Amino acid sequence: MIEQDILIIGSGVAGMSAAQYAARAGRSVTLLEELAPGGQTMYIDMIENYPGYDQPISGYEIGMKFQAQAEQFGAKLVYASVTSLKKEGDVFIAETSGETYQAKAVILATGAKHRHLGVEGEEEYSGKGVSYCGTCDGPFFKGKKILVIGGGDTALTDAIYLSKLSEHVTIIHRKDRFRAQDNLIEQVKRNKNIELLMQHTAVKIVGDGNKVTSVVLKDLVENKEYSREFDAAFIFVGMLPQTGLLDKDLLDESGYVITNEKMETKLAGLYAAGDVRTTVFRQLITAASDGAVAAHCSSEYIDALEGREYR
Ligand code: NAP
Repeated sequence: MIEQDILIIGSGVAGMSAAQYAARAGRSVTLLEELAPGGQTMYIDMIENYPGYDQPISGYEIGMKFQAQAEQFGAKLVYASVTSLKKEGDVFIAETSGETYQAKAVILATGAKHRHLGVEGEEEYSGKGVSYCGTCDGPFFKGKKILVIGGGDTALTDAIYLSKLSEHVTIIHRKDRFRAQDNLIEQVKRNKNIELLMQHTAVKIVGDGNKVTSVVLKDLVENKEYSREFDAAFIFVGMLPQTGLLDKDLLDESGYVITNEKMETKLAGLYAAGDVRTTVFRQLITAASDGAVAAHCSSEYIDALEGREYR
């Protein structure tokens, strides 16, 4: 049994920020991460809206900086997948395949994973032209015909990145207006390498057995399906919050964790921060802010638990 004050699950920006604040406040902190530190930042080519960076910085680099800062204050990063989380009395118990972790408070910062479209050919051609990460797979499609599906920040950010690799990038979006930030919409509209097809969806991804060759599109205005040649289909249709460790009564109807402004969930001592929680705006800066609030408030909770009556 490994004991610590605060256990943080997930090492994206929210988790790293929480680790840094909690460790700096003198708490013993363990950060459990199942894959690689940095969370979604690892998929972002260039970040230009994080305060303090007047020049764009890569997602990888900023993720590494978050990690170094958290570790500098004494937070411990452990690579392990949490298989169960329960509360016994005032103590949280998290099981991983190799160890059991015990903590007075837990901050869930597990983020969200890529949502799939669910169309024919998507799974078959995943890794053979179907991708969920522009910066990871874009370089394989230099000069090729690239389809981008989605209308949020990720779709437009990655389309801009892909347009540097190919003159033939087409974005399709099911609505007549994008969900993304205005600044990105303007950049996309000005970009000569990007074609926009609004009110279009992808119906089927077609290939020759080894790679994507075309996509069947649907024009929702004309209610007409037609096929177009593409070498790759990049799918950016949102995220699925990673909440498998929690009871359903802690979640909203979309599956995100419900918190108050202190990042407290309905379960005393359990906090959530970043993309995994219900919020109106999911950005690196808001994830970092959530992490700091969760660290501060979970630390206050522990003080109350140990000294005064918990308010
Ligand atoms: P998102 O904001 O949820 O957008 C998902 C997009 O996919 C929406 O345009 C949605 O259409 C569309 N969509 C969903 N299901 C679909 C389906 N079945 N078929 C076709 N289209 C579908 O997701 P995101 O763009 O991945 O962004 C996730 C979070 O990360 C957001 O909060 C975003 O702000 C943040 N982010 C920030 C940055 C940055 O700071 N620079 C960069 C990337 C992401 P509708 O619009 O019709 O719903």
